[in-house]
Amino acid sequence: MIQQVSALEACAIFEAIQPYLRIQPYRRDSGARKVRHRIEFYGVPRELIIRAIAATMPCVSCGDPIHPFRVRKTGRDHRMPEDHHGFYFACACPLDKRIACSRTAAAAQEYEAVVRRLGPDRP
Ligand SMILES: [Zn+2]
Repeated sequence: MIQQVSALEACAIFEAIQPYLRIQPYRRDSGARKVRHRIEFYGVPRELIIRAIAATMPCVSCGDPIHPFRVRKTGRDHRMPEDHHGFYFACACPLDKRIACSRTAAAAQEYEAVVRRLGPDRP
């Protein structure tokens, strides 16, 4: 199934945050054949981060409300991301809530749709 618009693009705040979007390919581990992508936002102004963190959407897997814009829990200060990394988009429940949601076909399709529509190799 091809999604016409990714869940990310459907977020009300997407238009405001799109200029900060940086989709980065990375390999999850050295054995991974398939290149995965991080859907990150760099250099987002503080007030926009606060708005984005408050945004909600349905989990693409189970439909529960989630906060799709999240601060990666690394580094010393967990409350705010660093200037250039650590703020990212996720379309499914956090791992500490429901691990299975991030591993469904629906979640994979959403990330593929985001990369295809907004990623570095988009037409
Ligand atoms: Zn879920």
